Amino acid sequence: TREIRLAARPVGEPTAEIFELAETRVPEPAEGQIVVRNTWMSVDPYMREWMREDVEYARPYELGAPLLGSAVGEVVASRSAAVPVGATVTHFLGWREYALLDAAEATVVDTSLVPAEVYLGPLGTTGLTAYATLTRVAPVREGDVVWVSAAAGAVGSIAGQVARKLGAARVIGSAGGPEKAEKLVTTFGFDAGLDHRAGPIAKQLSEAAPGGIDVYVDNVGGDHLRAAIAALRERGRIGMVGAISAYNATEPVPGPDNLFRLASKNATLGGIYIPGHLDLFPEWIERGAAWIADGSLRYEQTVVEGLERAPEAFLGVLRGANTGKMLVRLG
Ligand code: NDP
Repeated sequence: TREIRLAARPVGEPTAEIFELAETRVPEPAEGQIVVRNTWMSVDPYMREWMREDVEYARPYELGAPLLGSAVGEVVASRSAAVPVGATVTHFLGWREYALLDAAEATVVDTSLVPAEVYLGPLGTTGLTAYATLTRVAPVREGDVVWVSAAAGAVGSIAGQVARKLGAARVIGSAGGPEKAEKLVTTFGFDAGLDHRAGPIAKQLSEAAPGGIDVYVDNVGGDHLRAAIAALRERGRIGMVGAISAYNATEPVPGPDNLFRLASKNATLGGIYIPGHLDLFPEWIERGAAWIADGSLRYEQTVVEGLERAPEAFLGVLRGANTGKMLVRLG
């Protein structure tokens, strides 16, 4: 069986050379453990951060060790009464074909509701991030104008739709390229789709929302965050979810120079880190699954086939090769 290890820490934009595909043996479970044959694994922007030796908020990936991340699969061996052979579980030992873990670290998921891989996307921490941001950190109120960046991506495509469900009157999305910008409107129900590659985002935003915005879901940082602060209305709210424009930076990235404008607007900027909001999971799965079932919450997946192509999928998600959730299907 195979796993992917981190062979070197990237400097700037990562390349395929930082990964190593290694052969290893299918593990045997000890008492209380299970072995999972992974069927799908997630690649996510945060993984770029965890490759840094000096990442402040997590344990950096170890050199020479397999990478970590969300995965879903089938239990093929079990020495735990709680998680039997045949169960479908999510866990955090992705980047490998077989995972050995304590049964307590696995979550059994209900595949009669949605296909297993949906628990890595809309009904996983990705969808939960959108929901927690818009209910807790930057709550949407009836009639709000909302802007979501990286809106064709995994978190963003769900966030735009959830904002509408929570009462937003107008939802604006931004993404890279004309096809994605159009898709925001045609597939994900945004009122307007901006293309951040077509010109300064601040100018496009002020044209799409001449009266300003009430809520901004920030997946990007940098010029996007600056534009949102400028466009924010009285008592506006920003949810700081990600700053993907800075993840490959090799020098410290300056903050927005208009940060103090938040004061005169009585506005708030709140961070979200999803491990702090897992208590909301049952509520989100119940609501999200119902919306998926009735067809009112749409999601897309960009699927790359085979563990050996997981690095390519990861490099792709940083560059915007995905629409919706980027996933790797394992053989
Ligand atoms: P996405 O599916 O949104 O993929 C990342 C997208 O970012 C790409 O598709 C690309 O889309 C866009 N992008 C890349 N570089 C830039 C840039 N310089 N400017 C603008 N857009 C860019 O990933 P996720 O949905 O998984 O994550 C979205 C964000 O949310 C990330 O910042 C991530 O770190 C963060 N996140 C944070 C969590 C938390 O707990 N705080 C949890 C989950 C995610 P395009 O083609 O449109 O440019």
